Amino acid sequence: MSSEPTSQPPASKSRGTFLYLLTLVGAAALVGFAIWNVSGGADAQVERFGKQAPESALMMPADGKVDSRFHFLNAWQVAQVPKAVRFDPPLGSEHGALVYNGQKYWEMNEKRGAHHVGDDLNGIGGMNTDLGDPVFAVADGLVVFSGEPTPEWGKVIVVAHKSPDGKPVHSMYSHLDRIDVAKDSLVARGTRIGTVGTANGYYPAHLHFEMRSADGVDIGGGYGSQTLNRLDPMATVQSLRHAAPEALSPSALASTLAKSVAVTK
Ligand SMILES: [Zn+2]
Repeated sequence: MSSEPTSQPPASKSRGTFLYLLTLVGAAALVGFAIWNVSGGADAQVERFGKQAPESALMMPADGKVDSRFHFLNAWQVAQVPKAVRFDPPLGSEHGALVYNGQKYWEMNEKRGAHHVGDDLNGIGGMNTDLGDPVFAVADGLVVFSGEPTPEWGKVIVVAHKSPDGKPVHSMYSHLDRIDVAKDSLVARGTRIGTVGTANGYYPAHLHFEMRSADGVDIGGGYGSQTLNRLDPMATVQSLRHAAPEALSPSALASTLAKSVAVTK
């Protein structure tokens, strides 16, 4: 009986300490939540860094950690990128006929909660009538990515070009059904590099086409809140076309490559 009074005070003391710590942790959590809320919470994070899912891969992450899959072109690749004196559309006729733009560059996509960073090019038949249609390199260039970053991106090709004024620009062809070119190969304007696909059935067939001002490869997301290095794709092709609307001519690189193939045979 005599032990009870002496054992009681330490027990209540430790319970008091526990409650005190619990209050501190609770207060810290409340302050943290308040700061998160003032900074706008999840919506603001999406607003600031862009909606990354489901088209996410190979990107510089928002927290600044370097994704090793992001890489600049090496000196050898840069030296190989040919100067592109003319650009043509990637789908339809050489003049871009028989194609419509289903979702234009920088259109707000409410479902994704961000802006579309490319042009969705479709054959005029709609839905899957363009499945398997040829996709063409928009200009002479070097293939710097050829593969499937995620199932939602499907098969993707990135071609590096040097614009007539020497600036590095990339064209990106996504959701492909087939890839017909290997990484590090030279392609001429108008070369069939792949075919229109559905990204493994995620979307009705279309070509998600992007143009970027870039000297490194980061696939990134198909939607974003900031343009970053993305250019208005079809407007850029138009501004770099350097040809009369009715002009038809093969790329000089195409005949050079054809000759080199003939020589090696
Ligand atoms: Zn798209």
